[in-house]
Amino acid sequence: MSANKSITPPISILVCESVINKFNLYKQYNNQNEACGILIGMHSIDESKISITFATEPDSNDKRSRCSFKIKSNKHNKTLQKRFSKSGNREVYLGTWHTHPEDYPNPSKCDTDDWLKQYSINRNLFENMVFVIVGRKTNKWFLVSENGISALDTNVIFNEIEEKV
Ligand SMILES: [Zn+2]
Repeated sequence: MSANKSITPPISILVCESVINKFNLYKQYNNQNEACGILIGMHSIDESKISITFATEPDSNDKRSRCSFKIKSNKHNKTLQKRFSKSGNREVYLGTWHTHPEDYPNPSKCDTDDWLKQYSINRNLFENMVFVIVGRKTNKWFLVSENGISALDTNVIFNEIEEKV
């Protein structure tokens, strides 16, 4: 299974400006550690559209180094629960994001193993999950579905002005 095969599935991803801004805060220009968090948002009913409305930020209880991370803090899950109930159960866990100290990031074996594991845990709920690697010059987006991992073409990613609730 290759993560580098680029496809254009019948899906579009809408990303709130605030999510992109958050990624930008953690880009690994210097000697920063890898940053990570979870992606929260909504699936359209036909699952052709995924809206990413919120990204959690690293917490002191997460394990971070220059080239690895592990989401350990329960703050991510607490934020998810809060947004889930506040949104009338519409906002759900979509996947994760993390940074790489590379201009054009590529997933490591650890990354792809983790994504497939996340998908196997959550696949009963939704057809697709989304994972992002934030590089220094580009962000790389991946969709995980029953077809495995696919790199997403950037033409299916749209920025969305934040909905004021
Ligand atoms: Zn990685």
